[in-house]
Amino acid sequence: MRIARFSIDGNVAFGAVEAAEGTDGGEGDGVTAGHDGLVINIMKGIPFADFELSGTRVPLDKVRLLPPVLPNKVVAIGRNYADHAKELGHEVPTAPWAFFKPSTSVIGHGDPIVYPSFSQEVHHEAELAVVISRLCREVPRERVRDVILGYTCANDVTARDTQRTEKQWARAKGFDSSCPLGPWIETDLDPSDLAVTATVNGELRQAGRTAQMINSIEDLIVNITEAMTLLPGDVLLTGTPAGVGPIRPGDEVSVTVEGIGTLTNKVVARS
Ligand code: MG
Repeated sequence: MRIARFSIDGNVAFGAVEAAEGTDGGEGDGVTAGHDGLVINIMKGIPFADFELSGTRVPLDKVRLLPPVLPNKVVAIGRNYADHAKELGHEVPTAPWAFFKPSTSVIGHGDPIVYPSFSQEVHHEAELAVVISRLCREVPRERVRDVILGYTCANDVTARDTQRTEKQWARAKGFDSSCPLGPWIETDLDPSDLAVTATVNGELRQAGRTAQMINSIEDLIVNITEAMTLLPGDVLLTGTPAGVGPIRPGDEVSVTVEGIGTLTNKVVARS
């Protein structure tokens, strides 16, 4: 199931993204821009508890997609693809290297990435994001799948110049609008070998596969929940493949994860 969070006429709800009757646009990897022929079957309840689909459907292009979750915290992993660590001139870490992006950094599909005042070098980082389904801590490896609701696309937008000059990454990776998530959560997906790409103004910049991760999703959730409780809706960013690079006001950046869809955001100057 593809679970979206959206607003229509001032109301916010979750729903399942489906192909409209008579079209076949709702399955497979081809769902990208446009969303033609897709509808949302409005959910009664929330995806973290018992819910049912109401059967009331609205065209996807009539709603505003919101971030698919409002996480309490986003835990992100640095340098989880060897070729990306190398392109920045870093050693590959021997253990997962976690940092936080604050809840206030999260935006949804179509929302603007606002260029921060203190940076001259903002980069895209295309990533697979994992959405947590339930409160959990000290999760054993064999139970990891039980705490995952599904997967979405993320852009770990980074002020690279600030990251170089400040020892902690709170500003470099935590500024407002630095965590686009979406367009929706795919619940039925094997995440072990998916293509992850970024384009800027339609030009391919990053192309990797989740099979290249140094630490698997199981490794990461075991490691993180040794230290902290994860809550329903918390999000894990799993690292970015090689090819990161600058984005500037006026650019349109898209992250596509195979089997999920495409997350697109425009970069705008501060007004
Ligand atoms: Mg990253």
